[in-house]
Amino acid sequence: MVSRGLAQLNLKQLTTLLKKREISCEEILLAHLDVIEKYDSCLGAFLQCGGRKDLVALAQESDKRWGNGENISLLDGIFVAVKDNIHVDGFLTTCASRILNNYRPPYEATCIEKLRQSGAVVLGKTNLDEFAMGSTTENSATVTSNPWNVDHVAGGSSGGSAVAVCSGMSSLALGSDTGGSIRQPASFCGLVGLKPSYGRVSRYGLVAHASSLDQIGPITKDVYSAAQLLNVISGFDNKDSTSVCSDRIILDELQRDISGKKVAVLGKISSVVDPQVALCFDRAQKTLKELGVIIEEIEFPAFDYVVAAYYLISTAEASSNLARYDGVKYGVRQECKNYQQMLTATRSQAFGKEVKKRILLGNFVLSSGYYDAYYQKAQKARGYICDLLKDIFNKYDAIITPTTPTTAFKKGENEQDFMKTYTADITTVVASLAGIPAISLPCGLVDGLPVGLQIMGKMLEEQQILNIAYQFEKAVARDFSPPLGKMTR
Ligand code: GLN
Repeated sequence: MVSRGLAQLNLKQLTTLLKKREISCEEILLAHLDVIEKYDSCLGAFLQCGGRKDLVALAQESDKRWGNGENISLLDGIFVAVKDNIHVDGFLTTCASRILNNYRPPYEATCIEKLRQSGAVVLGKTNLDEFAMGSTTENSATVTSNPWNVDHVAGGSSGGSAVAVCSGMSSLALGSDTGGSIRQPASFCGLVGLKPSYGRVSRYGLVAHASSLDQIGPITKDVYSAAQLLNVISGFDNKDSTSVCSDRIILDELQRDISGKKVAVLGKISSVVDPQVALCFDRAQKTLKELGVIIEEIEFPAFDYVVAAYYLISTAEASSNLARYDGVKYGVRQECKNYQQMLTATRSQAFGKEVKKRILLGNFVLSSGYYDAYYQKAQKARGYICDLLKDIFNKYDAIITPTTPTTAFKKGENEQDFMKTYTADITTVVASLAGIPAISLPCGLVDGLPVGLQIMGKMLEEQQILNIAYQFEKAVARDFSPPLGKMTR
């Protein structure tokens, strides 16, 4: 088998072959490493990679377990790329920030412990927008490119994780999603990205961006792999006070017929998306209807507030979370005469432009004179959005939208107009503010770039949206692998 072929297989294909011992975990690893060697200098997915010797040793241990057969986890010996804001033993956690460029975490994230228990192997740490603030992975010293067209961004902030899976550098990846950072890069790269319900996956060991919104979740090639990975990383964790108990996803039930399910389309959506993307979305609706799904367009009067509410709340929380980087407790320090000068110099030099902008905005909206006018109002809007969604889910099983209003931006496209990038989050932040689960999966191509379909569900009802996504994916039956062969080094 050619190595890129093996590197491109999804979880089900890999485990079928592993079960029959037709391939080994070591061969899978070598295939991934081959792709990394060939393409990562151009694509920039990884910030750090595990050592070859260590990885081979772990793969060989998994191979022994597969050889022995019984009771093996289906993730054993499968390689996972992890966003560099999640703590993994043996790796730095840099958050793509100068301020953490030498930070070695003293503990491991709960989701990574769970991965290890299942036998999965962390391949390396992937690039992101600094502290997961952004939509392009351009807010980082390393540029990450979209494998479908390297002049375009991979999306963000989990751009590195998406590119690792999209190009075959890794079979699976973990990202984090605060306002769309799993779903949007998945959409831009033709992948499946799942933001779990708030609390389903422990945030212990995830560097905080906006704590009431952050969630860790899977980025994979297909829906089945996302469900499987979600099962491994989910679960109550007493180290995260917002963690909740949840039912496992029953994989066999993904096969269930979805005819008769009721799905809502948020009215006005077509007015905020690119016409070509809207066409793909129309076709996706047609496919769902052919599967027997009942689709109705409904009013969603909160559309005008969602982006503002998200940016006011997330920057407020970020400004407070990032106060801990003071040159004393974490990471780098700029030596100065006294504490105040050291604090100012460290933060001025080691935070990037976008992070500083958000700290300033967050402090502003929390300041005594403006708290009621901005932060409080945003919280009210959040409550209103949650109420609206509750009503919708009393009548419907799911809500669908295009994942993003456009396909992947050109690199540097929105540099002069950051509001353009912020407003492009209009489709993803709804689920973030309400804490509900949402999945993105590919539904077409526009000018050679993937378009994503987003399916949102009721709190903790991932089973429902995964079921719809699985059936949709089966009906579309299209391979969304990028034409890597055309890429120059
Ligand atoms: N684009 C959003 C932002 O910049 C999403 C970030 C995220 O989900 N981490 O805030």
